[in-house]
Amino acid sequence: IDQSKIRNFSIVAHIDHGKSTLADRIIEMTGLLTSREMQSQVLDNMELERERGITIKAQACRIIYNAQDGQEYILNMIDTPGHVDFNYEVSRSLAACDGAVLVVDATQGVEAQTLGNVYLALDDDLEIVPVINKIDLPSADPQRVIEEIEDIIGIEAQDAPQISAKTGEHVDQVLEAIVRKIPAPKGDRNAPLKALIFDSVYDSYKGVIISVRIMDGKVRRGSRIKMMATGAVEEVVEVGYFGPGQFIPCDELDAGMVGYITASIKNVSSTRVGDTVTEADRPCEKALPGYKKVQPMVYCGIYPADSAKYQDLRDALEKLQLNDASLSYEPETSAALGFGFRCGFLGLLHLEVVQERLEREYDLDLVTTAPGVVYRVHKTDGSMMELTNPSNLPDPSEIDYMEEPVVRAEIMVTTEFVGSIMQLCEERRGVYIGMDYMEQTRAVLHYRLPLNEIIYDFFDALKSRSRGYASLDYELDGYQRSDLVKLDILVNKETVDALSFIVFADSAYERGRKMCEKLKEEIPRQLFDIPIQAAVNSRIIARETVKALRKDVLAKCYGGDISRKKKLLEKQKEGKKKMRQIGSVEIPQKAFLNVLKLD
Ligand code: GDP
Ligand code: MG
Repeated sequence: IDQSKIRNFSIVAHIDHGKSTLADRIIEMTGLLTSREMQSQVLDNMELERERGITIKAQACRIIYNAQDGQEYILNMIDTPGHVDFNYEVSRSLAACDGAVLVVDATQGVEAQTLGNVYLALDDDLEIVPVINKIDLPSADPQRVIEEIEDIIGIEAQDAPQISAKTGEHVDQVLEAIVRKIPAPKGDRNAPLKALIFDSVYDSYKGVIISVRIMDGKVRRGSRIKMMATGAVEEVVEVGYFGPGQFIPCDELDAGMVGYITASIKNVSSTRVGDTVTEADRPCEKALPGYKKVQPMVYCGIYPADSAKYQDLRDALEKLQLNDASLSYEPETSAALGFGFRCGFLGLLHLEVVQERLEREYDLDLVTTAPGVVYRVHKTDGSMMELTNPSNLPDPSEIDYMEEPVVRAEIMVTTEFVGSIMQLCEERRGVYIGMDYMEQTRAVLHYRLPLNEIIYDFFDALKSRSRGYASLDYELDGYQRSDLVKLDILVNKETVDALSFIVFADSAYERGRKMCEKLKEEIPRQLFDIPIQAAVNSRIIARETVKALRKDVLAKCYGGDISRKKKLLEKQKEGKKKMRQIGSVEIPQKAFLNVLKLD
């Protein structure tokens, strides 16, 4: 393939600005799928993505495009997620590309993640092609958005295509802009193979499938390849490119192409996203720079509901990690929950997604413990420990002081809501850094905020206090000394280690009270009274009681209707499955996560 006819690009944007819909129209217009085969957000093929209407995994797709210059082009397009928790997914995809299509909603304008994505693309020196979307909506104001892009991002946008990804209007201009503005790849096809692994997935038939961008050289069936970081040598079984949601085998992948490789990869751990693939017998001199190691923001314990499934969970985590390089895990044990894993995530949405994927794709029933950030505990003996599990907090007498992680946050908001958002930030212990006006109507607020004040429900609070008009981007910005305590929850007088968490001392009472109230709702009534208590340093600070159940479930049926009785029993059984026995009390699995979503 002539490299001058290849274009590799990602579609990036703030969440909901229309990336996946634009990908749909491009697939449809280039005849890859007929409109009958077409369903919306076709590249979001994970069940969870379709249910939630969000993109979680970046998805590649090869397209043939007949351009206005009469030439045929091969476009390798990667649709990416927009949520900040999946930034790592975006940055990995960008490294496989030469350009990025930046979609901006004509009714919303530049948002926090629009900027976040631009910075990621600039890190990789990518050509950015701005596109104004949703011009079919009455409130669209493309000219204002063009000026915003020029002012805030500083890229030329006067000739940006103004499109409706929904109706398809002017989408052809996007394809033309891609061909004209994004540079063709410039690999050396005669050099030794050098390919970047930007993603991988475990398939029960094909084994490990790695997604690659070929920088130099070529690879085909039977080639002997070597993974440079791990040193593993494998024989290639199949190479191919990506169709919409499918793998299409081909003879050879050569310089400039994006595609996949399967090999006789037996050991899952021999593949690593970010690694360089080369020829075993003629290795390239230097590996590609690879990816920055990701830093998990949030940790929680994940346990099998049925402790006999511990090995299955280990196996599932290993396979899922192939497809989600930002997931980290290590074994741990809990007095309440037995053997499980302490897992690290990029945020709470990421945590939920991982939990759901484990449950659906690997058919597991899981319990997750209270999520928390990484604290630093400075002990009186002068040593420091990083605390990812609250249960490991040393005795207060051994603690000199503690520190918590903080972030630098940028919040974009229309000026009428600046006051209420500032109030929210103060409530969350934020330190005001400054504010810039973007135009008369919009401002960017800069705050320094403790990470543990924003991971749980800050996004929701931000949205509700700005009627949806605020957006947030943040990055870690070191640690600060803080007055922190461990809050314990006792159910029926027993401390449930899985519910302990670290909290800012002044909020302990409030949080303890809310957690008890919440747990009271979550724990079904049983045959005896269940006290629920919150304690700090063994001192009870709040209490609720789940009153004993008086009637049997079946009492409601007044004898007669057998099928109704059966249904009720079945429902009860199903409810049981999602329960976790803590001492003499059953706690629903979801309670462990739900109690932390306050407000
Ligand atoms: P993504 O998060 O950037 O991938 O956004 P999606 O492609 O999932 O689109 C988010 C929502 O915006 C969906 O409900 C789409 O139907 C809608 N949408 C996308 N493009 C357009 C458009 O051009 N016009 C209108 N009216 N709606 C659009
Ligand atoms: Mg999407």
